[in-house]
Amino acid sequence: MKENNSQTYSLTLSDPRIHFSSAHFVIGEKYCEGIHGHDYSLKIELVAKKTVNDMVMDFLDLKPWMRKIASELDHRMILPANNEELKITVNEESNKVEVNLRESKFYEIPFSDTVILPISNSTVEEIARYIAEKLEIHLKDHKELTSLKVTVGEYENQEASCIITLNN
Ligand SMILES: [Zn+2]
Repeated sequence: MKENNSQTYSLTLSDPRIHFSSAHFVIGEKYCEGIHGHDYSLKIELVAKKTVNDMVMDFLDLKPWMRKIASELDHRMILPANNEELKITVNEESNKVEVNLRESKFYEIPFSDTVILPISNSTVEEIARYIAEKLEIHLKDHKELTSLKVTVGEYENQEASCIITLNN
């Protein structure tokens, strides 16, 4: 374990094999996108005040976690549970989700094809926040880390990040 007050370390990890292809629509103030999909990219950055075994973290510890989160979202429609304009009714028994947007757009989709997230909109910012908060829990025992950053991209050069400062 190496610690020097003038130094910090960072690790950046993305893997072209770890991505998720999902459908979504963003709800704007006065508009709503039609359903469409992206092949979302995922990047994780960690900052540490010291290394452990000469590493911020072993890539092999992070990659399975990234694969797991990507597979939970892959080939599904991402629905935001916390959007006031959207009413989502789930009927697990009949494998059905009814989506009602401002009483003007209605969708009915199989429950098994959806993932309903605790986010307010399916923007890359909100998806990044959702993943970052899950990652924060996963990393809670790594007291040497000072921040984490999750970046989700819709296209090349079109991405957003959520950064969480860790109070260790
Ligand atoms: Zn989109």
